[in-house]
Amino acid sequence: MQAISQPAAVAPFAPPSGWRALNPSYDPWDPIRSLQRFGRHELTSVELTVTHLCNMRCEHCAVGDSLTMKEAPNIPLELIFKRLDEVEHLETISMTGGEPTFSMDTVRNVIIPVLKYARTRGVRTQLNSNVTMDYERYELIAPFLDVMHISFNYTEAADFHQVGFARTGREVKPAATAKMYERMIENSRKLAEGGLFVSAESMINFRTYNKISDIHRIIVEMGCLRHEVHPMYPSSFASGLPAITRKQMFEAVETLLNTRDPNVWMLFGTLPFFACSENEVERRLVKRLREETNVTVRNDPDGRNRVNVNIFSGDVYVTDFASVPSFGNIHNEKLDDVFAKWREHPMQQAVNCHCPSASCCGPNLLVSDMYYREVDFTKRLAIP
Ligand code: SF4
Repeated sequence: MQAISQPAAVAPFAPPSGWRALNPSYDPWDPIRSLQRFGRHELTSVELTVTHLCNMRCEHCAVGDSLTMKEAPNIPLELIFKRLDEVEHLETISMTGGEPTFSMDTVRNVIIPVLKYARTRGVRTQLNSNVTMDYERYELIAPFLDVMHISFNYTEAADFHQVGFARTGREVKPAATAKMYERMIENSRKLAEGGLFVSAESMINFRTYNKISDIHRIIVEMGCLRHEVHPMYPSSFASGLPAITRKQMFEAVETLLNTRDPNVWMLFGTLPFFACSENEVERRLVKRLREETNVTVRNDPDGRNRVNVNIFSGDVYVTDFASVPSFGNIHNEKLDDVFAKWREHPMQQAVNCHCPSASCCGPNLLVSDMYYREVDFTKRLAIP
């Protein structure tokens, strides 16, 4: 099991002493915890979209269509803090983009104040970054951050070039992207050495499914404490990419379980395999995932315990599922109220199942739309 307990002198980015270590038995982002505690889904997690700028244009980017070259002014932080103050059961704040660290203005005027706010409130934080910018800006952020979440889908600089700049619309020299690739690895390693919890996320897709073990090995070598793995779903830029079969996805997950470093936390999310499956082989995989040491399957926070707030428009989204538009706006609504509206929405109700024996609270909307259109999960139960 992972634990962070190095002294501050050698681990300047370690969390405050006395804070419970994030590990496979303590994942405050998992909506199953609040469901168990309150008996229904509650808002415990807020994600802030803090920029639409990015230095990359990944072929699979789930928010690719919203990336821009110029940024509008953000809503005053006072209003954002007021809305966060009102979230009664807030446990985690995530910040995402774009690349949140692309502009130093965002680092200084948004990211660091939000992280300091979270620390004073005892709330855990995550920053979704590609960590390809200069190390100095990550060094400013790291002392106040809980989880640096990076995307990592590569085995070499050529993969990074092919995947990360596919949608730039102009020629980007491989020599330049190779430097960024090296910087990303170096930054991750330095942050991890400083005691920061670095979590690398890979997606299982047509490019990665047959080299996921090599990707895992590099992630371990970078010093990441967690490897997070999700299938790729056809959202935004990814919608034009080839899909892999459920069998290929199944095999990739099994391969990872067979070849992983058992000391590193493996977190799987948005898998299309459930304990209620009529397919016995899939049920066996679900059981194995539940029983292996240092392996967890996180229920998807989107629409369960989390909302996303766009800090420029104030719009609140409950899921990245394309057909669910903004559900409210922080200019005139409390986040708990927006969430309560969503909780009763027919789309949420359609996948609102819960099997305590499997610690499962159902598929997210993307999974159910892609694989289970005909299935009513509210009528299914985990099979022992
Ligand atoms: S909670 Fe839903 S998806 Fe999970 S095992 Fe039960 S019925 Fe299946």
